[in-house]
Amino acid sequence: MNDAFQRNINYLRISVTDKCNLRCVYCMPEEGIELTAHEEVLRLEEILQVIRSAVMVGIRKIRFTGGEPLVRKGITDLIEMVDKIPEIDDIALTTNGILLPEMATGLKKAGLKRVNISLDTLSPEKFAQITRGGRLGKVWQGVEAARDAGFDPVKINTVAIRGFNDDEIQDFIGLTLKMPLHIRFIELMPIGASKLTARGYYISTAELLEKVSSKWHIVPEKEVAGAGPAKYYRIPGAPGTIGFISPISNHFCSNCNRLRLTAEGQLRPCLQSPREIDLKTPLRSGASELELSNIIRLAINSKPEKHDLEQSGWDGNSRVMTQIGG
Ligand code: SAM
Ligand code: SF4
Repeated sequence: MNDAFQRNINYLRISVTDKCNLRCVYCMPEEGIELTAHEEVLRLEEILQVIRSAVMVGIRKIRFTGGEPLVRKGITDLIEMVDKIPEIDDIALTTNGILLPEMATGLKKAGLKRVNISLDTLSPEKFAQITRGGRLGKVWQGVEAARDAGFDPVKINTVAIRGFNDDEIQDFIGLTLKMPLHIRFIELMPIGASKLTARGYYISTAELLEKVSSKWHIVPEKEVAGAGPAKYYRIPGAPGTIGFISPISNHFCSNCNRLRLTAEGQLRPCLQSPREIDLKTPLRSGASELELSNIIRLAINSKPEKHDLEQSGWDGNSRVMTQIGG
């Protein structure tokens, strides 16, 4: 269905948990995270009910995220159930990849179409540093497992962070020459643990593009499946591509087709706006799927035209990314 600004809202991103098996410094605090109480998190059947209701207002694409979606018990079963909904034509997942070695094949069989794996550095030491103890080898095994299970494309999400991985940009690009990976550089957002410090570490897409084009000849690439807001390039002849996602410098609000569901059952029309619409209370008071779909319709109608992070300060978010779903 179209919102008030003629955008066709057909994509629902669902945070299935705010828990995570890593602690990326820009995303989560080291400790003292207030995890949502178990009973406050939507049960799998409740998530399924929301998806069925969302389908009634035109949602066709689902992405599971978190927190780390693969630590949510029953995620593979949930995907299998969502795959049976005929109107849903795309199911995707954003993961840190740690659990993919044991789960990739089952996820593929269940009907998952696409995976995005987050990876901010190619150095094992720096990986341990940014994730506070994670093992890079595990993520690489996850990337391999995803490819072996038949996921194509496999996209890698890399948050560009000044002073941390800006010296590795060329190495990431080099990967696209060797493997059919789609490396996407994402601008750091003032959200989650990096809310107050992001500005100092932020690198714009324009700066990255300049760096990349000074060394490589890259040509614009037509969309990679499910491309969304990324702009893609390729080194001629390379099996992989290079993408840029610019939520800050070139916000894609005018093309934004998404709605978010938090782990606690709140609908978020915009990632950057704290406004939420409660779905859990009606869900738990026995609302019908039609009634729920009417609430989702209201949420779509209330989607703001745009965020103005670049102009109006960098501190609009009260929830952390793991609660909203990145
Ligand atoms: N745990 C999964 C993962 O890491 O892929 C899914 C959830 S995570 C919140 C989703 C994505 O959001 C990751 O690619 C992560 O790097 C990105 N992210 C988290 N905090 C961010 C921030 N402040 N700015 C930009 N991207 C961020
Ligand atoms: Fe966990 Fe993903 Fe956040 Fe890293 S970015 S702490 S892997 S939720």
